[in-house]
Amino acid sequence: MPYRAPLDEYNFLFDHVVGLDKVRQTDRFEDASDDLTRAILTEAGKLCEEVMAPLQRAGDMTPSYLENGVVRTADGYADGFKAIAEGGWIGMSANPEFGGMGLPMTVTTAVNEMMSAACLSLQLAPLMSQGQIEALEHHASDAIKDIYLPKLISGEWTGTMNLTEPQAGSDVGALSSKAEENGDGTYRVSGQKIYISWGDNDFASNICHLVLARLPGAPAGTKGISLFLVPKYLPDENGEAGVANSLKVVSLEHKMGLHGSPTCVMQYDEAKGWLVGPEGGGMAAMFT
Ligand SMILES: Cc1cc2nc3c(=O)[nH]c(=O)nc-3n(C[C@H](O)[C@H](O)[C@H](O)COP(=O)(O)OP(=O)(O)OC[C@H]3O[C@@H](n4cnc5c(N)ncnc54)[C@H](O)[C@@H]3O)c2cc1C
Repeated sequence: MPYRAPLDEYNFLFDHVVGLDKVRQTDRFEDASDDLTRAILTEAGKLCEEVMAPLQRAGDMTPSYLENGVVRTADGYADGFKAIAEGGWIGMSANPEFGGMGLPMTVTTAVNEMMSAACLSLQLAPLMSQGQIEALEHHASDAIKDIYLPKLISGEWTGTMNLTEPQAGSDVGALSSKAEENGDGTYRVSGQKIYISWGDNDFASNICHLVLARLPGAPAGTKGISLFLVPKYLPDENGEAGVANSLKVVSLEHKMGLHGSPTCVMQYDEAKGWLVGPEGGGMAAMFT
């Protein structure tokens, strides 16, 4: 059965359940009128029905695969991601100062849910970027924000979230990836991460990894975990993707479904990274 966006149901939820009218009464979201949010849902619905839904099956018929260390994405996924990015859907709630639309998270959540229902394999890519955008908006230095946020929001670069390790799944506090200072404000990040959604792709010119790791002498458990931004390509003096960092995709996980989403095993070997948020505050920063 083809996907049909349940627009009436979302509008009902906005009007009668979640109280979007109260959000509209705040100074920050006074422009998010009823007409605007209805138009946004309608446009998102079209993208879901016409572009994203057909890609769910395409992803399972022509799965992403690893070729010479680079993930080759499923048929149609590059164009699908481009359509999402060009529509501004990645930065719906992101800060307009960096190219976002600044819309209420309530509206973004509805659109994300619609897109996930249409094609979860593809939608995981913008979702990972959104998580990273939020973490950087709240915890990164101004220099990092200036370089990364516009490119993540436009979809030129994509983001990932690296928590899980072979011995640390639900028990994230057991992770053993480590980071050591280089003495110039950067860090050397080493370790292996597994199950990393969209750990690589062939349509973004840089993949930016948020990686949880431990600094020397950090306490055991989640209180000893810090967050690092580790890009696939180090930004050059103009903020463009430059030389390759010391990291690679080791393999793709074998899954029962979601074959359009490349779930990667990542290896970091003294890769250059930047601390995001305070030392020991990695869990809170990652999940902002
Ligand atoms: C498709 C996919 C995409 C993913 N993407 C990412 C990603 O982008 N980044 C990332 O970092 N990780 C990612 N993950 C990893 C995911 O976060 C982990 O799978 C999750 O944390 C669980 O860890 P685990 O698989 O090691 O299971 P385990 O922790 O080994 O758990 C196995 C089972 O034991 C149960 N269990 C665990 N601990 C306890 C306990 N104390 N008491 C009772 N029951 C318990 C669990 O509920 C579960 O049923 C992804 C996983 C999948 C499947």
